Amino acid sequence: MAAARKKRIVILATGGTIAGVGEPGCDTGYVSGQMAAEDLVKMVPELSEYATIASEQICNVNSDDMTDALWLKLSKRIAELQEDDDVDGIVVTHGTDTMDETAFFVSLTVRCEKAVVFTGSMKPATAKNPDGPANLLGAVRTAAGFAVDDEPPANRVWVYFAGELFDARRVQKCSASALDAMGVDGPGVGADWNAPAEKRFFDVSGLDSLPRVNVVYFTVDANPKILEYAACVSDGLVIAGAGSGEFSLPWASALEKIDIPVVIASRTHHGGVTLNESLAPGRISAGSLPPQKAAVLLRLALTSTSRIPEIRRLFSE
Ligand code: ASP
Repeated sequence: MAAARKKRIVILATGGTIAGVGEPGCDTGYVSGQMAAEDLVKMVPELSEYATIASEQICNVNSDDMTDALWLKLSKRIAELQEDDDVDGIVVTHGTDTMDETAFFVSLTVRCEKAVVFTGSMKPATAKNPDGPANLLGAVRTAAGFAVDDEPPANRVWVYFAGELFDARRVQKCSASALDAMGVDGPGVGADWNAPAEKRFFDVSGLDSLPRVNVVYFTVDANPKILEYAACVSDGLVIAGAGSGEFSLPWASALEKIDIPVVIASRTHHGGVTLNESLAPGRISAGSLPPQKAAVLLRLALTSTSRIPEIRRLFSE
């Protein structure tokens, strides 16, 4: 019997701490997004034991400098690679700060026949014991089908981090400093290998920008004028409300005058939002999506509709 051929994995590098460079041996005081894709690959010679690797540089930024243009470039390239018979899986290296947003964006805009696995690191490439190489190896192994009992990975967008695998819908950055900073948005929710893949799909192939959505964070005595200002510079808003998406009566009055789509999320980042109709009549519940992911979905929803019932339906799926 012929030996199985090695899987072909393409690494798309976008920057982040995994490509960060600083004082040799130091964990802090570095600059994100410096090292080139091919150098990240060279740091992990074991990759070639599991797959034939190609690498491409999509951008080289701190992930806080991701933009709609970069998201669209990445998503379109992943869509092309999904169609390429010479490619078996895709790994994306990315800063951890906004990895959850980008992975969710890709999961909503690419029809995945092949696994897409995001990874990154908390220490720069020049640290004494960088965590990036092990994360990259784990991501490539996952994309090549070595991660779970040698089964090919379910075809969707994943985040591999510090030995754990999360799906793009649930993952968030949960710690500013821990090496296992990526986690899930609900207690006890890990990667479910067999859970159904994302059903929503937005065709972004003809787009070069996305609608503007801003998140407004409620705190005690927060000035309602920030809501009014945010509405002036946005096509849609997400409110990060307290508890199950609540805010003060002055905010409720300010909200009455806002006539763009508004999604109500929770600043707790966990659990579901029950829309309080007396505070936010006719608005949209983010459900269990945290504010930053509600913003991703609202931006995409607004590319195809501004009808509230339709947006509500997209959020309830
Ligand atoms: N600021 C960095 C980034 O998101 C943090 C990281 O990669 O861990 O690009």
